[in-house]
Amino acid sequence: MSAVTPVSCRPLLDLPFTELERELAAAGLKPFHARALWRAMHFETATSLAERTDFAAPLRQWIAERAREGAILEAELPEQAADIASSDGLTRKFLLRLADGQTVETVLMGFTGRHTACVSSQAGCAMGCVFCATGQMGFVRHLRPGEIVAQVLHARRALQASSGEAASGLRNLVLMGMGEPLHNYDSVMTALEIISDTRGINIGPSRITISTVGVVPGILRLVEERRPYKLAVSLHGATEEERSALVPASRRWSLAELIDACRIYCEKLEQRIFFEWTLIAGANDSPAQAERLARLLAGIDAHVNLIPLNPTVGFAGNASATAAAAEFQRVLQAAGFPSTIRQRRGIDVAAGCGQLRAEKTRRNLAPTGEPAGSP
Ligand code: SAH
Ligand code: SF4
Repeated sequence: MSAVTPVSCRPLLDLPFTELERELAAAGLKPFHARALWRAMHFETATSLAERTDFAAPLRQWIAERAREGAILEAELPEQAADIASSDGLTRKFLLRLADGQTVETVLMGFTGRHTACVSSQAGCAMGCVFCATGQMGFVRHLRPGEIVAQVLHARRALQASSGEAASGLRNLVLMGMGEPLHNYDSVMTALEIISDTRGINIGPSRITISTVGVVPGILRLVEERRPYKLAVSLHGATEEERSALVPASRRWSLAELIDACRIYCEKLEQRIFFEWTLIAGANDSPAQAERLARLLAGIDAHVNLIPLNPTVGFAGNASATAAAAEFQRVLQAAGFPSTIRQRRGIDVAAGCGQLRAEKTRRNLAPTGEPAGSP
């Protein structure tokens, strides 16, 4: 048998199935080898490929060649820096350390049989929303597709290990962790192609929600490319002035432009949009502001998610009182808009986006704090 040599050592988790097949074909391997490798990584969530005696000899040899170059699957899987459960036991938050030492947050939440993973798309974020712990830390870098896929694999593995539940119980995915997914468009789309592949992780496109702060060119690209995912748009303000006080990105893509893009999205894709509204006491939670929001969304097939603020160190605001949230919801309902007040589940585990990483960083920097690496 002739020796097979990998033509490149691109990270395996970056590759959609067709690219993996092409990569293997270039080294003289067959489509069934690609299927076996794909199944091991994305369906069985293997953590190592070194000892796979069930693989055919040419595939084992190709893996060994890669390993000689240091390109092993283990190097692509993040290390778990923290694993924290909420007191109700329904939410688990992982802090995952990537190969270059950057950490990102991944959350696994839900009930038996229908769990949701919430993943990060960037380390840090460039958008600077004033109330968001990730925004407060600034932009570090984009994640590669494989670094997004690896978070879902981590959640699948954790689900299986903790409850013995089939990994297929992980049914939904939201891109609501650290970072702005439409600022890292290409990597996110490649990751979602991998995650929704029916031969592996198999989370259906209609069960995947991309949450954006309102990157207008990205929304228009989703329309142009007819991407089948759900869209959530984070608004927080219904006038240019109120919104840009909370969301600096609003100065780049105005509220008017954003709402136009949302209308195009709904019309062309015939899809509903979810609007996210972080409720901050005295800032954006009055009945008048709810009325302005309803007027802004007139004619859009919208569902509003109201999220009471999770306090962060870098922002002085507080969550709205329960009565204010209920009144806000009532005004929306009277105007014909369905809404949900999202439970602040897991607030006890620093559940707001970016808060666990921020907290770990603070502790590790504090001279009298706990040593690095402690949860
Ligand atoms: N960048 C994307 C997705 C990640 S943030 C976006 O902004 O949509 C996911 C959601 O969490 C957003 O709606 C955001 O406004 C919200 N969020 C961020 N920090 C929060 C906090 N401290 N309290 C409540 N919601 C927060
Ligand atoms: Fe970035 Fe979203 Fe946080 Fe705004 S809310 S800073 S867009 S992660």
